[in-house]
Amino acid sequence: MTSLTVENYLKAMLQISLKHQQHWVTTGQLAAELDVSPGSVTSMLKTLSEANLAEYRPYGGVALTETGRALALRVLRRHRLIELFLVETLKLTWDQVHEEAEHMEHAVSDFLVERIDEFLGWPAADPHGDPIPASDGVMRGSEEAAMALAEVPAGGRFRISRVVNQDPAFLRFLTESGVEIGALGEVEQNSLEAGIVAIKLAGKNLNLGHSAAAHLQVVPCGQPTA
Ligand SMILES: [Zn+2]
Repeated sequence: MTSLTVENYLKAMLQISLKHQQHWVTTGQLAAELDVSPGSVTSMLKTLSEANLAEYRPYGGVALTETGRALALRVLRRHRLIELFLVETLKLTWDQVHEEAEHMEHAVSDFLVERIDEFLGWPAADPHGDPIPASDGVMRGSEEAAMALAEVPAGGRFRISRVVNQDPAFLRFLTESGVEIGALGEVEQNSLEAGIVAIKLAGKNLNLGHSAAAHLQVVPCGQPTA
């Protein structure tokens, strides 16, 4: 059984590399993701490298080994299945489950995780739309061509597929604004100069800042018939 710290490092590395589609992760990126000093990252990376979980090159960054990646995918799988389980069974909201899952992901057994997966019907995504890795490490869910809402031009129709910022206050703001996974909308105005993306979502008008719109991933649904 790997330690909690090791699991968190591996998970953070995997998330950075998935997000930016890069194999090598910098110590600076890791320090920021884990909210720790670059110095402590460096010493931990030596430990991970000795355990053959990561390949560490001073000044070159760090990459997961095959073993490290498999472990990281298992942590991510536990995290996302727990989040969905808490929403489905205890009716927790999507802004409440992330913190709980951060703790529980290190504690649940493989046996329990398999039962949860079966109970939920082998789901493709968690409550935030993040894909769930199957037990063999393959990401579930169709690889739909998602893009950031901030990049959709005026007139573009979309379906919200994923929220990539799990800050509870941000998620509550989304709930209050009617923004949820699967909601259909259309961009009315996208102004880089004003930093505003004005959308119509389920018939309601909503103005989002560019940074908020950058945290919403959408699947384009074609242009409206003018
Ligand atoms: Zn989470």
